[in-house]
Amino acid sequence: MTTSKNEQFEVVKTDAEWREILTPEQFQVLRKHGTERAGTSPLDKNYETGTYVCAGCGTPLFTSETKFNSRTGWPSFYAPIEGAIETTVDRSLFMTRIEVHCRRCGGHLGHVFKDGPAPDRRSLLHERRFP
Ligand SMILES: [Zn+2]
Repeated sequence: MTTSKNEQFEVVKTDAEWREILTPEQFQVLRKHGTERAGTSPLDKNYETGTYVCAGCGTPLFTSETKFNSRTGWPSFYAPIEGAIETTVDRSLFMTRIEVHCRRCGGHLGHVFKDGPAPDRRSLLHERRFP
């Protein structure tokens, strides 16, 4: 169970509306808290300079300066763009994890892991965020 509630977000759409703008895989991850299969994202090994934006609402979420190779198979960042994300406590799958989502639309981005290089040894693993 997560504590994320759609009503609080600036960008609110029905599932049908989300399905119109997202691929089935993006919909599953962003709106249904799915997990992209490790190693399948073309962004995992992308280290070009740029900004990573929310596939749901276009909000800038991460910059390439904070991206690092976590060797997990998921694109990983050690810090978000300020104010871009929110977190909730996720107690599903018999674990307590910190879930990360887009502040504007609530789209699920991934979880926080303590494997990052800097500055606070946390990283944000996230799945299929970008078109
Ligand atoms: Zn968003």
